[in-house]
Amino acid sequence: MAPNGADGFDPDFEGRVLVVANRLPMSIKPKDDGEFEYSISSGGLVSGLKGLGKVVDFKWFGWPGIDIHRNDKDKVRRHLSDNFNAVPIFLSEDLAQKHYNGFSNSILWPLLHRMPEKAGNDTEWAQAYQEVNEIFADNILPYVEDNDMIWVHDYHLLLLPGILRERLKKKRNLKIGFFLHTPFPTEDYFTILPFREEICKSLLLCDVVGFHTNQYAKDFLDSARKVLPGVSRSPNDLHWEGRKVIVHGFPLGIEGDEWRDMLQEEGAKKELAGLKQQFEGQKILLGVDRLDYIKGIPQKILAFDRLMTDHPEWVGKVVLVQLAIPTRAEVEEYRILRREVEHLVGNVNGKHATFKHTPVHYLYRSVKPELLAALYAASDVCVISSIRDGLNLVSYEYAACQEEKKGILMMSNYVGAIKTLPPSSMVTFNPWDTPRFAESMNVALKMSEEERAERHQGIMKVVDTWTSAKWGKAFLETMLTAEVPKNNEMPDRDPLGHPDEPDAERDNVAMEAEEAKKQHKPI
Ligand code: UDP
Repeated sequence: MAPNGADGFDPDFEGRVLVVANRLPMSIKPKDDGEFEYSISSGGLVSGLKGLGKVVDFKWFGWPGIDIHRNDKDKVRRHLSDNFNAVPIFLSEDLAQKHYNGFSNSILWPLLHRMPEKAGNDTEWAQAYQEVNEIFADNILPYVEDNDMIWVHDYHLLLLPGILRERLKKKRNLKIGFFLHTPFPTEDYFTILPFREEICKSLLLCDVVGFHTNQYAKDFLDSARKVLPGVSRSPNDLHWEGRKVIVHGFPLGIEGDEWRDMLQEEGAKKELAGLKQQFEGQKILLGVDRLDYIKGIPQKILAFDRLMTDHPEWVGKVVLVQLAIPTRAEVEEYRILRREVEHLVGNVNGKHATFKHTPVHYLYRSVKPELLAALYAASDVCVISSIRDGLNLVSYEYAACQEEKKGILMMSNYVGAIKTLPPSSMVTFNPWDTPRFAESMNVALKMSEEERAERHQGIMKVVDTWTSAKWGKAFLETMLTAEVPKNNEMPDRDPLGHPDEPDAERDNVAMEAEEAKKQHKPI
């Protein structure tokens, strides 16, 4: 049982917490003997909700990830309920594919990241999206009681809060919350979205809508006001048809202790020793990204190329280890990206390799947590070069594994974490500006031990304070008390401004990016 009171959740809370996300946190594989194998999956949302599990018990609803034959559904349902307190929501292969790879990942994902040029189109996808949101509601309804809190997660289920609210009108004191794990776009991009009115209405039927940063919350407040007539806003909430909805930034975190503990285990120690031996006498720049077009992997490789061109003294003395985690490989844009990245890796290695030394070590696979922890611990610099990214947990995990080395965190201006971690503790850069990005790599690689230690300490103050358990607790408490969290309680330097306040910082960054694009010369 998770604790209540003390560090746990409000001891007077009488209801239950129901967490809904598109995927259940476990993978299910059929075995030859007709049984199933169950294993916990990894990823940001799973880690985040694992932290929540320390604070409160909750029931988890989601798609199990595979099409289960009707004869096996009861067996799987029982196993998940008994062992994981989870309820599977079964979807046919075709429907799941159109909802997940189709509407969610080929339309919503690129638009939420302000990249309409990456969006696909298919009329059946929108229908599948609506249908899946309805099926989720059908499956959740029988479990809901008075006083419960339902917490819906992420862009796959944007219509679900509205459907639940409409169909659960008779429940007393029911709270519904929604958290978006991606950025929220500015209103000019949001108004491109299909279902924009339905999405706004659905979110306005929540009690609390959370984002990783207050900037995204502000962009949602602006968009809702633009899209729906009759919406009024104050800095932290929206008023619509007699309802008040709290809209706020709740940056996710990690459990730093778990990473430090893992580094003490034999498996990680062995991996770390192997890496130290292999890269002896060399500096390591590390990239850990899903192979997604938001992550700026081509920009990182181009900057690394430029580093070695502008600073030939580094040739043979520095490597870029780039882990490219396979993701959404059925979607065409991701296949195109893979070809582009692998072509670039080949070019850079062809240009700068010697018989003794390969500059880019590129791994297209996911790795076990102990190897990931060892990679984080072994490297000198971690380069987060996303051109748009909700928060980015890799940056937090890297810092947590750097107690010994005090490595530098390089952070693109377009990542949510740039607002939550102290700016003076990171080396920040514009990923589109290749020459200056390369120069920042040079600066990071040459930084003194004293300066690295100081910067690391600054980052760890946030990482160890704003854990995933705190994130979950803050969100649920906001739902329960309907009180806006005070800005100084969150590691976000970007308080929600007055509705008409100009956003000078964002304009500057955008202009800088445009300028850099214009000046960009291929190397
Ligand atoms: N990760 C993983 N498998 C790997 C390497 C990394 O599951 O082989 C995890 C990593 O530990 C991190 C998550 O993937 O928790 C990536 O989260 P992030 O917020 O950085 O980006 P996202 O992939 O959610 O866009």
